[in-house]
Amino acid sequence: MTIKPGICVGCRICELACSLSQKNLFNPQESNILVHITETGEVELEIVQECSCVGGRAYCAELCPVDALQADPGD
Ligand code: SF4
Ligand code: SF4
Repeated sequence: MTIKPGICVGCRICELACSLSQKNLFNPQESNILVHITETGEVELEIVQECSCVGGRAYCAELCPVDALQADPGD
């Protein structure tokens, strides 16, 4: 997974997409990717667990509205 935090708008759709695809839940706490918004308004993205979309569809990347995420070959 390649993350381009400079263009992320902090919408957190990726968290929901991941938790739904991995755990069948809309719960950001169950997401492999976390969005952090700092006190100064900067957005930071963190992969907290090894992604399990290996060979499959990376729903976080597919649903990101600004293409801030890119599934790498082999992911
Ligand atoms: S690639 Fe898959 S497992 Fe990894 S953060 Fe995205 S949806 Fe979650
Ligand atoms: S879906 Fe895209 S723009 Fe929205 S928080 Fe995630 S990486 Fe950022």
